[in-house]
Amino acid sequence: MHKRILIVEDEASIRDMVAFALRKAELHAIPAADVVEAQAAIAQAVPSLILLDWMLPGMSGLEFARRLRKQEPTAQVPIIMLTARGDEKDRVSGLEAGVDDYVVKPFSTRELIARVKAVLRRSHGEDEAGVITVGKLKLDSLAHRVHAGENEVAIGPTEYRLLHFFMAHAERVYSRPQLLDHIWGGSVYVEERTVDVHIRRLRQALEPHGLADMVQTVRSAGYRFSAST
Ligand code: CA
Repeated sequence: MHKRILIVEDEASIRDMVAFALRKAELHAIPAADVVEAQAAIAQAVPSLILLDWMLPGMSGLEFARRLRKQEPTAQVPIIMLTARGDEKDRVSGLEAGVDDYVVKPFSTRELIARVKAVLRRSHGEDEAGVITVGKLKLDSLAHRVHAGENEVAIGPTEYRLLHFFMAHAERVYSRPQLLDHIWGGSVYVEERTVDVHIRRLRQALEPHGLADMVQTVRSAGYRFSAST
């Protein structure tokens, strides 16, 4: 899955440095200088993670974090706050607002990327090696490979992204528009029936392993990925 990281930071030098480090780590960096730009970026495509500066013009990062937690589609998106030294006492209020982690300024980009990756793995149900397991299926997000027991599953790139999303969010129903939003990104124009095409291909990829039924159609709602077939 292509990980989109939204950076909300008003200081251009830090924003650029973080964006550069993210891109070097093969993450897709989306810079925003304030809350308005951040909201616009979120409307385009739901990010995988948000790096949020504590001190922003107009609205504090903490206030924005609270708002992100309350609104779809960002309620579940992990947030890492960037804070200055001395803000320690405020961190509890951050955790109460639903922030996942903190990085204290000045930070090394190495440290930041390590924290970003750790939070991403945790939020996607991956273990330390980046592997997600649902039933007999194992998805290795670093090697981009899927195994059913001992056998490798032959799978196309879009089906892989779809499966990665499903495995990270197993046992939950997603509508076609939600899947479009998460897999293709809100800015891309794709018809809803495209989802059905890739669902069919995903089932075909799982069929030889006897696992096609893990992809379940939920009538008049959408699709669910489930370990219990
Ligand atoms: Ca700032």
